[in-house]
Amino acid sequence: MKRILLLGGVTEALAIARTLGPEHLYSLAGVGRVPTDLTCQVRVGGYGGAEGLAQFIRDEGIDLLLDATHPYAAQISQNAATAAQVTGITCWALRRPAWQPQPGDDWREVGDWAELIESLKPFRRPLFTLGREPLQHLHEIPPEQFWTLRALDVYPGNERCEIIGARGPFLLEDERELFERRQIDVLISKNSGSTATEPKLDVARERGVPVIVLRRPELPAVDREFGSVTDVLTALIPEPPQNL
Ligand code: NAP
Repeated sequence: MKRILLLGGVTEALAIARTLGPEHLYSLAGVGRVPTDLTCQVRVGGYGGAEGLAQFIRDEGIDLLLDATHPYAAQISQNAATAAQVTGITCWALRRPAWQPQPGDDWREVGDWAELIESLKPFRRPLFTLGREPLQHLHEIPPEQFWTLRALDVYPGNERCEIIGARGPFLLEDERELFERRQIDVLISKNSGSTATEPKLDVARERGVPVIVLRRPELPAVDREFGSVTDVLTALIPEPPQNL
């Protein structure tokens, strides 16, 4: 029987974790909620880089590393690929397909924070949905802009920025109300590909609001890539014996 180390932190990873028996491990960085109702073991916290992860794989007798982390969590994905390689075990990855622009969308892709700030210049009331990164830049907000920043938790803002703490899934009606009440004129987003956060894109399209999209990071090659939880679960079910 293979022993699986599942690297998670997103909804799909939790869905896979719910199907795993007690010999398997579900691994979380410790930034979000930790489930307490799983049959598999739950491990919280980093490993100390690829070397630490490789040591853990050896110590725990892991046979299969399954990377089901967020598409922008590039460091842990790289560590996973490296650790699997040096320990000689198989590495699979669940890679959520990216959102694709629809007719009527005005998407502008940027590669980093400097490009993002440049692309924001024509706008006055941006809505940031990138996580915590903008928190480091609150003192740089130009006087003509007022930022709305949505993150998992509430943080203090300032006179040029209000911070909303909220966790998805987000409803279309609530997103409409948010854009209207705050008169959002540009949305900033990662391309997470998650259905839980997609309604903001629908509202941007409805209102003709441009979307500044932070480009997805490069992720390492693995032994096998999957696009959905179902595909992963199908691959995890052992083949029936041929002679039955
Ligand atoms: P990251 O930059 O790729 O990883 C930073 C470090 O956090 C890793 O080097 C590792 O520490 C530790 N780590 C990350 N995921 C881990 C896991 N599943 N189990 C154990 N340790 C883990 O990741 P991030 O962007 O900070 O995201 C952290 C976690 O939040 C990820 O698990 C991801 O799935 C989840 N998440 C991220 C985003 C996002 O936008 N980035 C959004 C939603 C959820 P060591 O080097 O010490 O092992």
